[in-house]
Amino acid sequence: MTDALSKLLAERDWLLADGATGTTLFNMGLTAGDAPEFWNEAHPDRIRALYRGAVDAGSDIFLTNSFGANAARLKLHDAAPRARELSRLAAELGREVADAAGRPVVVAGSVGPTGEILAPIGPLSPALAVEMFEETATGLKEGGADVLWLETISAPEEFRAAAEAFANVGMPWCGTMSFDTAGRTMMGVTSAEFGRLVETLPNPPRAFGANCGTGASDLLRTVLGFAASGTERPIIAKGNAGIPRYEAGHIHYDGTPELMADYAVMARDAGARIIGGCCGTTPEHLRAMRAALETQPVGPRPTLDRIAGALGGFSSESDGLGEDGPARVRRGGRRRG
Ligand SMILES: [Zn+2]
Repeated sequence: MTDALSKLLAERDWLLADGATGTTLFNMGLTAGDAPEFWNEAHPDRIRALYRGAVDAGSDIFLTNSFGANAARLKLHDAAPRARELSRLAAELGREVADAAGRPVVVAGSVGPTGEILAPIGPLSPALAVEMFEETATGLKEGGADVLWLETISAPEEFRAAAEAFANVGMPWCGTMSFDTAGRTMMGVTSAEFGRLVETLPNPPRAFGANCGTGASDLLRTVLGFAASGTERPIIAKGNAGIPRYEAGHIHYDGTPELMADYAVMARDAGARIIGGCCGTTPEHLRAMRAALETQPVGPRPTLDRIAGALGGFSSESDGLGEDGPARVRRGGRRRG
């Protein structure tokens, strides 16, 4: 049995994933502090519009509106018991939009972090984390997701717990970590360590990579780190559209569609096969990314200088892999949108 994502990966050199969920929903009127997952029920039309925005812009894969649909996060909104149901609704709407696309589009059931720290450092037991992820995954499966998509993870323990849950529900999956701390995740994981972790799992993901973090340049440096390890597993690049800036009461991302088009082509040349955006990435950005991927020939693996020249400097000197440890030094001029 071949899943929809593996089938597309077998047919195509690269796939375009989607852009930002949060940014798009905020533009539709979501306010800070609201749980976006409630909209799967209260405003299904807006969630369909979110998905259609990506599909119409040329995305081959889109993520469902279920990032925070786990008991730990929903508990903050007195809705802990609703994780499975809200996840199912997110995937059902996704299925509907994908099936009407007229071409193969993969519905990826988004699974975000619990927001809690796992034992031994934190209070959340691995068993309870597995249980929570399983609830979300079950709902996404019931709603018709093609694959599960774990994202924005920073701790290896949490990544493992989710993988175990996905094995329990018998779903293919992908997983990305967020490398936002001088080339490492918040919990100190490097790109090389993550690549090794993925291969030790009994049910490794169909693809793995990086999402969110600190801008498109840093994300590409992380992708180069994955590629340098010689992995044969498809690599995912989902970087933010530039750098966040607080402006007139809103978070604004400064990356232009042209910048994200350059990012997409360099991500592919760096070795990524699934390329999308994260925070700040709108359908307009996705359209430019798709056009660039379709028209620009494959080039050599980009150097760090070329990445910095096109997308702006890195947030730290180190990519986290060396012995020099994390250092937060901002250098180089960023190209402002
Ligand atoms: Zn993001």
